[in-house]
Amino acid sequence: MLDEGDRVTVLDNCSTGSAANLEPFAGREDFTFVRGSITDVHDLDSAMQGCDTIYHLAASVGVMLIVSDPVGTIEHNIAGTEALLRVAADQPVAPKIFVASSSEVYGRSTAVPFREDGELVLGPTSKSRWSYACSKAAAEFLALAYHKSHCLPVVIGRFFNVVGPGQTGAYGMVLPRLVRQALDGDAMTVYGDGRQTRCFLHVAEAVDAVLRLTAALEQTNGGVFNIGATEEIAIGELAERVRRQINPAAEIRTVPYDEAYETGFEDLARRVPDLTRIQDAIGFAPQRGIEQIIDEVAQQIREST
Ligand code: UDP
Repeated sequence: MLDEGDRVTVLDNCSTGSAANLEPFAGREDFTFVRGSITDVHDLDSAMQGCDTIYHLAASVGVMLIVSDPVGTIEHNIAGTEALLRVAADQPVAPKIFVASSSEVYGRSTAVPFREDGELVLGPTSKSRWSYACSKAAAEFLALAYHKSHCLPVVIGRFFNVVGPGQTGAYGMVLPRLVRQALDGDAMTVYGDGRQTRCFLHVAEAVDAVLRLTAALEQTNGGVFNIGATEEIAIGELAERVRRQINPAAEIRTVPYDEAYETGFEDLARRVPDLTRIQDAIGFAPQRGIEQIIDEVAQQIREST
């Protein structure tokens, strides 16, 4: 965005992100960093001054973090989104807003591939993993309600397993974990029986989708869009591929869910997006396959250590 001549303000409490990622832009006159929280209306108001577009990506993320901090998840994802929308609605000129949601909202649905107008099937409130899906669904409801009642221009994107260079494995995300384990010669941890599937989207293509959906707000206003790739891969097969590409000597270890997360943890068997809607809206068709992504992630980890 800076390269395209935009002025950019980042609001981040750096709870899971790293301020070091912003160092290359420090000192630029067209870049401002506000260290603060989306749960604080003063931080929001000062970051929003003069902004014509908001990309709302702030949230508690990562299944491990969700399970270990259920209160934070609900507070950041619901109260934070509500505060952001309220402050945006109070600006003299309503900014355009992209709201980041998640494929997790489809929950246990088996209607694969998932369509945006399909059912959301969530598990019981006694299982904290569902608080994330529920909080993201609530954030969608809030965004659509502000769109309807306050005429806020909003577009919602549901991300499907976004991965790539720079992602931390500290909050459970499988790809950076497997790649780092293989590089370190540690056992690669596959949870459950490894037959659960996911589709991995390169972060650069996710960013492209976010920017284009928001730029096309005249057509996408008030819409919900899946943002993902369609190459479906079982996690056991992913571990095999990482081993083949990175370290054929690495061992693959199966870890029961109870040990990996919490007792009675429920995983999702398959998660695949239907991309018809985003294809029709902006011609989105991701190109980078899992092999290329594994190589890029490994390369970045090697360079950073
Ligand atoms: N997973 C795994 N080993 C790990 C971390 C995760 O087998 O070290 C599994 C996890 O149980 C899930 C899949 O990989 O089935 C994707 O997990 P991730 O947390 O990356 O994203 P999710 O799809 O759960 O949001």
